[in-house]
Amino acid sequence: MSSLALACTCGAVRGTLRHAVPAQVNRVVCYCDDCQTFAAALGRADVLDGFGGTDIVQVYPCNLTITEGQEHVALLRLSPKGLLRFHTACCQAPLANTVPSARAPFLGLNRKLFGADADAAFGPPIGGVQAKFAHGRPPGASDTLSAGVMARTAWFLGRGALFGRHAPSPVRDAAGAPIVQARVLSREERDAARPASG
Ligand SMILES: [Zn+2]
Ligand SMILES: [Zn+2]
Repeated sequence: MSSLALACTCGAVRGTLRHAVPAQVNRVVCYCDDCQTFAAALGRADVLDGFGGTDIVQVYPCNLTITEGQEHVALLRLSPKGLLRFHTACCQAPLANTVPSARAPFLGLNRKLFGADADAAFGPPIGGVQAKFAHGRPPGASDTLSAGVMARTAWFLGRGALFGRHAPSPVRDAAGAPIVQARVLSREERDAARPASG
């Protein structure tokens, strides 16, 4: 069983990912405007790549433990029905994205939480998606979603659901509710953080 350590930018929040192997992760670079808006809202454009992409490693919640700094975990939503976007309050590092349903068998972690050893453990991203929102033309990325990324993601989520890997989750309580209250951006805040060009 191979485990990887992760930490926020300042090091106050630390965790461990178990089963850090390609078969138990789904790594995709997302260029969508919402991920760019999230980074901007945190004041952390530095977590994006040169094309505005976010390198996301989807993991099964049951594989992830937060070992230090739980009190720094915060939650942002870009709109009342938006994704749950967990981040740290200590250094505004993106932490984990997921959908509201407590049965969602994934947390999308920012690659930058991990050290240099993560690329060998996870393998490269399986693709880039939503490149229509990218700045420039990221090589090999799809404007929307590619069939290959959709199929691999469906396989990953299907196995997570089959084996009940949605829980326990380090960002939900025993009833499945987020461990912190979400702050929802106002329309004005969201518009101010939107990427300038699509
Ligand atoms: Zn921090
Ligand atoms: Zn995105």
